[in-house]
Amino acid sequence: MDSNTLPPPEISVRLPETTMLIGADRVLAQSGRSIPVEDPATGQIFAHVPAGGAPEVDQAVRAARRAFEGAAWSRMRPLDRARIIETIARKIEENAQELALLESYDNGKAVHHALAVDVPAAVDIFRYMAGWASKIGGQVNSFSGDGRQYHSYSLREPIGVVGQIVPWNYPLAMAAWKVATALAAGCTIVLKPSEVTPLTALRLAELALEAGLPEGVLNVVTGYGHEAGQALVEHPGVDKIAFTGSTRVGKQIVQTAARDLKRVTLELGGKSPSLIFADADLDKAAIGAALAIFFNSGQVCLAASRLYVERSVFDRVVEGVANAARSFKLGHGRAPDTMLGPLVSRQQQQRVLDYIEQGRQSGAEVITGGGTGPDRGYFVEPTIFANPDPQASIVREEIFGPVLVATPFDDLEEVVRAANDTRYGLAANIWTRDLSRAHLTAQKLQAGTVWINTHGVNDPSAPFGGVKESGWGREVGEEGVLVYTETKTVTALLGD
Ligand code: NAD
Repeated sequence: MDSNTLPPPEISVRLPETTMLIGADRVLAQSGRSIPVEDPATGQIFAHVPAGGAPEVDQAVRAARRAFEGAAWSRMRPLDRARIIETIARKIEENAQELALLESYDNGKAVHHALAVDVPAAVDIFRYMAGWASKIGGQVNSFSGDGRQYHSYSLREPIGVVGQIVPWNYPLAMAAWKVATALAAGCTIVLKPSEVTPLTALRLAELALEAGLPEGVLNVVTGYGHEAGQALVEHPGVDKIAFTGSTRVGKQIVQTAARDLKRVTLELGGKSPSLIFADADLDKAAIGAALAIFFNSGQVCLAASRLYVERSVFDRVVEGVANAARSFKLGHGRAPDTMLGPLVSRQQQQRVLDYIEQGRQSGAEVITGGGTGPDRGYFVEPTIFANPDPQASIVREEIFGPVLVATPFDDLEEVVRAANDTRYGLAANIWTRDLSRAHLTAQKLQAGTVWINTHGVNDPSAPFGGVKESGWGREVGEEGVLVYTETKTVTALLGD
């Protein structure tokens, strides 16, 4: 594809109000500064959002605190809270086309992928969390001591005002995971989307207001990470920070939040492995491994960027993965046959190309890819390296782009050692027909999620998160809700 075949660059999507939303107010940055929003398929700037900072964060935290302390949300009858959360799900569903198009302009991804993955994920989480709003409860206990009888119970109370900071790879879905969960628990929110992809978070907040969410419960501050994000983490009026993003920034957040011991949950980076055994359905495994790294152009926290294949089938599987990669059409997100959109920004494209160059220099064999693809926009071809040096940066570091490293293995102990030889531990997948080996291997892998004969399947009921430097805590599922609560124990003496 060349630039002549790109769809016309004019905007055919209705932009949300590109102001911040604080309480019910549309707010610009006091500084007067704004951030350009770019279409990564063309490099065209099509919107601006305010570059919010400490003053706007302070205003938003105050609005969230007022909303928390008023009875309107945290003390609303849980079933009424559930109804509003469910209505947000319906609003997202009704506006699916528009949200998918917006996501494509903002992030570059194919509209049909946003419609099939991102928007349904947002709908699902609101629908699932609506159910939790009325089911959060504590435990009851009776005990005796010193000849006296006591009755004790625990309450799960909403943690308060939460700051939620999300990245640019799944802007709507990541915001939805966090917002829906905090709402179910009865918290109020200051959400900071990525400065690269702020639009669907703003639209989500509009839809939430339309769904009947009381003003001040969800506030959106747009801005750069080191300004708005940092101010949110530093703010003494914030009770918890929920962050999804890079491990580097996650560590900074922990240090800042430690000053007043804010609660922190972190969903961070990964360098996840695919393990393919010789007895697997090799055709399915090869396609599965290709999708596991190249979907969303590799900009996925749980991307399986390291491939380990049993030596007897190594060449065949790597060729199968390469054939799948070559068949994925790169293109503009609005083109109906696009499989892989551009990377999110010129900076991200350059970062990935630098890694590819380092891979070449480290002596790894390039099986396919390595180039930039269509001539406009921030594209990178799906790229596969074989037999890399295990110490090379392409093996050890999260690239967050369409780059796979493939290595043969001879036995289970060896592949488990190699798979676990990383500072990350977000996810892994195993391909085999031997059920017992699949489950034994799953137990040995250091990862928050292990998939068997599949990859990347998430359900709102399944807790998601990482071990090691991939994060703290879990999102979604029951565990995901409980981290938005504090436990209070109440103990009463019965009788005299
Ligand atoms: P990033 O860490 O650069 O930014 C993430 C968010 O943090 C953005 O909103 C950014 O503005 C903000 N931020 C940056 N510096 C900050 C600071 N000092 N204080 C507060 N906030 C700050 O990450 P990214 O480049 O947007 O996203 C890619 C990363 O996100 C990858 O490492 C990827 O693995 C990770 N990620 C993880 C998950 C998961 O669930 N584990 C999901 C998606 C992405």
